[in-house]
Amino acid sequence: MTEAEVLNNTETGDSKTPVNFIQTIISEDLRTGKNGGRVHTRFPPEPNGYLHIGHAKSICLNFGLAAANNGITNLRFDDTNPSKEEVEYVESIKTDVRWLGFDWEDRLFYASDYFELLYSFAVQLIKAGKAFVCDLSAQEIKDYRGTLTEPGKESPYRNRSVEENLDLFERMRAGEFEDGSRVLRAKINMASPNLNMRDPVIYRILRATHHRTVDKWCIYPMYDYAHPLSDALEAITHSVCTLEFADHRPLYEWFIDNVDYDSAKYGRPQQIEFARLNLTHTVMSKRKLRQLVEEGYVSGWDDPRMPTISGLRRRGYTPASIRDFCERIGVAKRDSMVDIALLEHCIREELNFKAPRVMAVLQPLKVIIDNYPEGQVEWLEAENNPEDPEAGSRKIPFSREIYIEQEDFMENPPKKFFRLVPGGEIRLKSAYIIKCEEVVKDEQGNIIELHCTYDPDSKSGGPTAGRKVKGTSHWVSALHAIPAEVRLYDHLFLQEDPEGDETEDFTSNINPGSLESLTACMLEPSLVDAVTGNRYQFMRQGYFCVDPDSTPDKMVFNRIVSLRDTWAKMQKK
Ligand code: ATP
Ligand code: MG
Repeated sequence: MTEAEVLNNTETGDSKTPVNFIQTIISEDLRTGKNGGRVHTRFPPEPNGYLHIGHAKSICLNFGLAAANNGITNLRFDDTNPSKEEVEYVESIKTDVRWLGFDWEDRLFYASDYFELLYSFAVQLIKAGKAFVCDLSAQEIKDYRGTLTEPGKESPYRNRSVEENLDLFERMRAGEFEDGSRVLRAKINMASPNLNMRDPVIYRILRATHHRTVDKWCIYPMYDYAHPLSDALEAITHSVCTLEFADHRPLYEWFIDNVDYDSAKYGRPQQIEFARLNLTHTVMSKRKLRQLVEEGYVSGWDDPRMPTISGLRRRGYTPASIRDFCERIGVAKRDSMVDIALLEHCIREELNFKAPRVMAVLQPLKVIIDNYPEGQVEWLEAENNPEDPEAGSRKIPFSREIYIEQEDFMENPPKKFFRLVPGGEIRLKSAYIIKCEEVVKDEQGNIIELHCTYDPDSKSGGPTAGRKVKGTSHWVSALHAIPAEVRLYDHLFLQEDPEGDETEDFTSNINPGSLESLTACMLEPSLVDAVTGNRYQFMRQGYFCVDPDSTPDKMVFNRIVSLRDTWAKMQKK
């Protein structure tokens, strides 16, 4: 997908000035004085998994809209489903939102904060004849629901008296009934063309220990009921959510309109839907991400191949690059697919200016320079970042034995191979020109080392420094090299749209070559102090970040991205 197509879908006009359609709504509300000029948004994750890049879009949008309009944003855990939720997820979500650079200050809430109030609102609905206890089984409720073309059938329990409903609902709470034996339903309209309005369930009986309320409750509110009322109780003005909730909006409004939550004090939230982010070669559903973790396809939620915030962080992405990405993709009203190359472009652009250049040989080939004095070490000057005049330089050691990249030597080269060949020369970056004199092989015929000579006058400032040779290679002094493991990544899924075909098991599409681990890499010694999270450009190899698996004995690096910018290339076409 080209940027033009992405923009067509965003309806923003210009990805760099995000006047999206939601901002237009907010501007109009501010102009007319709606909500007394307040802008109050919320980010409402369910703590049933780790956040992913799609959530980042929602976070940037909610916090960004508020910040741009002098407003505030709540973090609210939508914890109405105790069987799938865990404290681990709550903590990871807080960490990730903060890491992305956003601050909910003292406005951290949980839907479970409102369980008592939500219960009292349900009692209100019962008293007003707008909710009833239903004894149909889950299957019967489904069967009675009708279809898009046929109206539903009313439950035989729909006309229970207010007294009976109040009594039964109280006893549901008291734990007198089996899980699943009864529910509380809103009494709306079984003939509504909108299936969500056909007497939706608002409470279910579920004996599950909740991560916050523990065993206080055995009935839990449904999302469609808890969400609008939580918004109302937090005086949210603009409740931004993804498109699949558009059909739920009439129900959202029905609860807001039919529950007396003191709207004079809290105002009336408005639900606004936008298109969720889909990325090529990526699955985004938490259920699928959890499956990848639980079935061992990846090493964890923070595997550097995962689209989770924690995975991207471990891979080496910066918060700024993710925010930049979220701004560039804009906000659409129609679903679209964004090319993952754009995300890679964003981190490349940032690191091109920020990441120090260093030399690392990923697949070493030993080179012995026969005419270089044994035991001699020279410390040569090397530029840290040609893109950044402030970055300065460092000293790198040169000695008689060095490593170059295996792929930088070929015994029988094709035409246009501009690296080292028998009898040929290359320049070693920031050092000398060397010439290959002899190729040493083992008994199987594998090349194990090269013997070379160097031109002592060819280093920077020397008489033959300007001498033309076709190629320049990176290298590392063998005596000083730090051994390391380097992990290279490719897309986790082969197909561009691994979620496209729901009939197919998405795991069949996993890329078997998504992780390549090189365990005998050699790094220049300046990297000795690198700590987890530090980022570098390994010359000619890409941008890399120190992995938390790294130890003083064995450094481990992740490749964030290679240097080839497929996104920039696509824009030039
Ligand atoms: P999933 O379907 O992956 O489990 P979810 O929507 O159930 O995701 P929530 O925890 O409920 O996950 O999401 C919190 C917020 O993030 C919601 O407002 C949701 O709309 C938004 N969100 C989730 N996925 C995306 C996405 N891919 N793009 C944009 N926003 C998203
Ligand atoms: Mg959800």
